[in-house]
Amino acid sequence: MLPALTSSEGTCLPSNTARKLMPTTDRDLTATWKYTLHTLYHSGTGLFEFCLILRRDFFHTSSVYDRSDDSDMTSYVDTHCNIPNILTKLNLLGNSNGTTTQTEIIEAFAKMKQDVIKDKKLEAIVSVASDSESQLDTMHLIDNVSEAFGVFGIHPLYAQQMTEEVVERMESYMKHPKTVAWGEIGLDYHPFPGYNYAAPDLQKETFIRQMSLAIKHEKPIVIHTREAEADTLDLMKKHLPRDWPLHVHCFTDSPQFARDLIAEFDNLFIGFTGVITFKNSTDLRKVVEVVPLDRLLLETDGPFMAPIPHRGKVCHPGHVPFIADQIAKTKQVPVDLVYSTCRANTKRMYRL
Ligand SMILES: [Zn+2]
Repeated sequence: MLPALTSSEGTCLPSNTARKLMPTTDRDLTATWKYTLHTLYHSGTGLFEFCLILRRDFFHTSSVYDRSDDSDMTSYVDTHCNIPNILTKLNLLGNSNGTTTQTEIIEAFAKMKQDVIKDKKLEAIVSVASDSESQLDTMHLIDNVSEAFGVFGIHPLYAQQMTEEVVERMESYMKHPKTVAWGEIGLDYHPFPGYNYAAPDLQKETFIRQMSLAIKHEKPIVIHTREAEADTLDLMKKHLPRDWPLHVHCFTDSPQFARDLIAEFDNLFIGFTGVITFKNSTDLRKVVEVVPLDRLLLETDGPFMAPIPHRGKVCHPGHVPFIADQIAKTKQVPVDLVYSTCRANTKRMYRL
């Protein structure tokens, strides 16, 4: 690795090189820099850090990649939701199953931001496409909306969707500069009478394969686990390095499982959704108590599980503050500390 450079050294890049990197619009700038950082990060030369310094001091921009020191510390990222599904449930987008045009997605997203979310403190969104139908819409989204980032994988309940064609497509999505993780993957043993969801053996096989694909592509992993504590932990221990960045999302299992996951993996974060605000979630609030603040992520899992007072409605990224308030209340800490720590955690997990 190269030694760390000071910011004044960072501005010494030859001007013709800098000019070539200088994009013409803010969106170009975001995409160009993300691509540059991604390439440099994986080159392992230390130029990644150099480039970050340059970006901050040379271009004076304010995207999600490097918040300036005076930025609002209560701004937040929804680290897990499915934007195409949210837009459909809000009746802003048809149930397209991959036939939506880029323009339709852009317009629907803009309408959601203006008419539904409204909250200016929403800084970025991680949109997770874990069924083969919503993946193309998610690509349209991240291609066109600067604050949206993508995660692609096959959900354990849809394990039967993981054909070789789907794997090939997901591997190509991993090369997109705004793809920030592989997921959600894992195990879900909750009984769903009358539904034809994947059986545990197929779920395990698909989970193992996707862990190795994520490692191959050097991507953080988003994990979905429900009522499958022992098997999930066992497979993760066997197949993941202990320092891999992991987001165990929408956690609803036991406090002991949360403790075991945190003890076993150094960069594992636990995401809590609106479920922690429900009256009958006393047990889950006990998990919030035991998970250290520096291992927490804020997520809505929209369109599902809107927090109180919006329970039963379509959940969207603008609902994050209700979850942050509940975490602050349960852990008896100032809500600003919840925002700032979770924001730092988001950077550690997703580099956002
Ligand atoms: Zn999930």
